[in-house]
Amino acid sequence: MNNGKVRVRFAPSPTGPLHMGGVRTALFNYLFAKKNGGDFLLRIEDTDQTRYVPGAEDYIIESLKWCGLTPDEGAGIGGEFGPYRQSERKEIYKQFADQLIESGNAYYAFDTPEELDALRAAAEANKEVFSYDMHTRGELKNSLVLSEEEIQRRIAAGEPCIIRFKMPENTDVVEEDLIRGEVKFNTAQLDDKVLYKADGMPTYHLANVVDDHMMKITHVIRGEEWLPSMPLHILLYKALGWGDTKPRFAHLPLILKPTGKGKLSKRDGDKMGFPVFPLQWTDPKSGDVSRGYREDGYFPQAFVNLLALLGWNAGTEQEFFSMDELIDQFSLERVVKSGARFDPEKAKWFNRHYMQEKTDLELAGEFKPLLEARNVSISEEKLVRIIAMIKERCEFIHELWDQGQYFFEAPESYDEKTVKKKWKEGTSEKLNAILEVFKAVDDWKAELVKESFSNFMNEKEWGFGVVMVPIRLALVGSSQGVDLFDICELVGKEETISRIEKAITILG
Ligand code: GLU
Repeated sequence: MNNGKVRVRFAPSPTGPLHMGGVRTALFNYLFAKKNGGDFLLRIEDTDQTRYVPGAEDYIIESLKWCGLTPDEGAGIGGEFGPYRQSERKEIYKQFADQLIESGNAYYAFDTPEELDALRAAAEANKEVFSYDMHTRGELKNSLVLSEEEIQRRIAAGEPCIIRFKMPENTDVVEEDLIRGEVKFNTAQLDDKVLYKADGMPTYHLANVVDDHMMKITHVIRGEEWLPSMPLHILLYKALGWGDTKPRFAHLPLILKPTGKGKLSKRDGDKMGFPVFPLQWTDPKSGDVSRGYREDGYFPQAFVNLLALLGWNAGTEQEFFSMDELIDQFSLERVVKSGARFDPEKAKWFNRHYMQEKTDLELAGEFKPLLEARNVSISEEKLVRIIAMIKERCEFIHELWDQGQYFFEAPESYDEKTVKKKWKEGTSEKLNAILEVFKAVDDWKAELVKESFSNFMNEKEWGFGVVMVPIRLALVGSSQGVDLFDICELVGKEETISRIEKAITILG
């Protein structure tokens, strides 16, 4: 390891939008780095040109930014260990592939894709699986088998040639995973992975190990799906002579479907109506749009909080954590081994919490663009008061509209059931009389409107219920809403009168 400074990296491949599991990996790396006074790097692993998707790298960078996970070094940022995009490091990898050939840890292979396909098909016909490994490599077209002249002839003729790792025979690879404890593999089960491709690009395995070494990474924290690659990586460190400085490994548990069975997929999200991506994503080929937490109205704090608890807990009852609290309390020892079930209802519950934590003024600021989009203009002072009354009913900013629409525009229709039940013979006359009372109120304040109204009602000895609901119908369009006189004050005297007049015309 380097002089003790913790260095971790998030190393996504830009093959599409980042799944929320990927964001969790980034988050745990970030928390571990910050907790230990270390560096958090962003490295783009784009050596597989066939899977490259335009826009994916920008998407990754923007997702991290939205979550507040700012890398100390990396693609789009820079740093002394750059470049941080593997396609820009192409020249670096070849020498290490050559070094592995020289030391006998790797070999050239000339088998064509068609030949390998035929071998796979033949194995399948026998209900077996073909594997390029220590059991088969002695009968295939590679530099372990071919004569030196034959190898040179093929290379000179420009035949496509790849480099494979020569998996040592029957060797136990034992490693202490920081989350899983001791993990043991026997090489007899492992194949000879391709390290270097015919197109002059390294594969993920070679590039990943070389870069982790060169970038002085101390801890590799990544998803469980990479656990099967760990023995190869460990053997590569050894073969390259870096065994003593290889990083520690920590493999994070899977995120499971809401049912708890199987890995969370995009299809679960589509089926149950929740996003699995941090930001909305438009597929550059098909144009298909996938929803994102940000566009669905989640606050980044809520998203980060819910991700933090997918596989980690503080060991206490605490469930709400600011980023600083997470940094303070995070440790890999408290990451669990078993899969973490994702609960979309709980995600909303987190959002509700962060929504209620915000000041009315902050919420007003976030709500304003939605009002502007609907051509509603309202003073900030009024908006803040409205929000104070309705926010408790909301989990998302956009629900402020559903809960408070009547403050911003007159109802277009009236709830039929309520009309039937409450708009009786004589209602219009009564409302006409009340209109006169309202018109006479000079200082249009909720309590004063209420006072004039109550005095009049008492005088007439009319039951409050008989007119309160019809007035509410006129102002709101239904029997819903906050205190009636607050509504009167906030929509204003003229608007109150005009809505009541309109209701009398339509319903009377
Ligand atoms: N490029 C790999 C990925 O897409 C990185 C795995 C690792 O962290 O080693 O997840």
